[in-house]
Amino acid sequence: MTAEYTLNEYLIPEQPFYAAQNNEIELFEAAYKNGIPVLLKGPTGCGKTRFMEHMAWRLKRPLITVSCHDDLTAADLVGRYLIVGGETRWADGPLSRAVRGGGICYLDEIVEARKDTTVVIHPLADDRRVLPIEKTGELLQATGDFCLAISYNPGYQSVLKDLKQSTRQRFVSIEFDYPTATLETDIITSESGLDHEMAARLVKFAGMTRNLKGSGLEEGASTRLLVHAGKLMVTGVDPRSSCRGAISETLTDDPDMLKAINELSASLF
Ligand code: ADP
Repeated sequence: MTAEYTLNEYLIPEQPFYAAQNNEIELFEAAYKNGIPVLLKGPTGCGKTRFMEHMAWRLKRPLITVSCHDDLTAADLVGRYLIVGGETRWADGPLSRAVRGGGICYLDEIVEARKDTTVVIHPLADDRRVLPIEKTGELLQATGDFCLAISYNPGYQSVLKDLKQSTRQRFVSIEFDYPTATLETDIITSESGLDHEMAARLVKFAGMTRNLKGSGLEEGASTRLLVHAGKLMVTGVDPRSSCRGAISETLTDDPDMLKAINELSASLF
């Protein structure tokens, strides 16, 4: 039953640009060497996925990413029997594929998934490093190449969206936040081609929206949204429309809040 996997299609051929915020690269490499799974914490759009792509490239391991959602079940991760041409065949899910092929499995926004998925990752995320596949009766032993990483946004305060201690206490945790102004300006410049001065204004604008978190806004503008606004500007859209389209309207539908955010952008552009 043990399949030979190469997972070559999941290798990242070129170095993804990643501007380190702290010592996260070193931390991840040390966790990887020791076979300890990694938990990336932080708001959306602050570089977690890019970091994983960068690490997979650095470690020369294939990267299988799963965006978790509320319908995602353990079978979606582990696999299921399929009927193909009248025959019943086992089809591995992304997690079993990563274990068999010695890849990195990144479960993005793990708390969105159904509760049975966290039970599945537990034996993989402790010293045992095994994945039991109940339906086939297999017990897959992860090799040293395999790595489990999950992400989680602690900003969405809700009991239902909390990561349980029994899960989180298996991981090395790396905290991500919005980069410093200088770093974020460099990221926008590099990712969108926008000039430095305009990128710095976008960062200032982002800071203003981030201050509104909790007073009517669920989240402030992420680095991702600033990169989008930068790209629109580089394509020729005027700065205010770029900010409105890429940032204000994306953050909220509330007319008063929209007005307030658009006034902030008008004070800068
Ligand atoms: P997350 O996974 O945290 O939601 P992403 O990794 O998808 O966020 O980041 C969104 C975008 O922001 C990336 O595609 C990239 O353009 C940019 N970005 C954010 N942080 C960084 C960083 N530290 N280095 C390079 N690009 C970054």
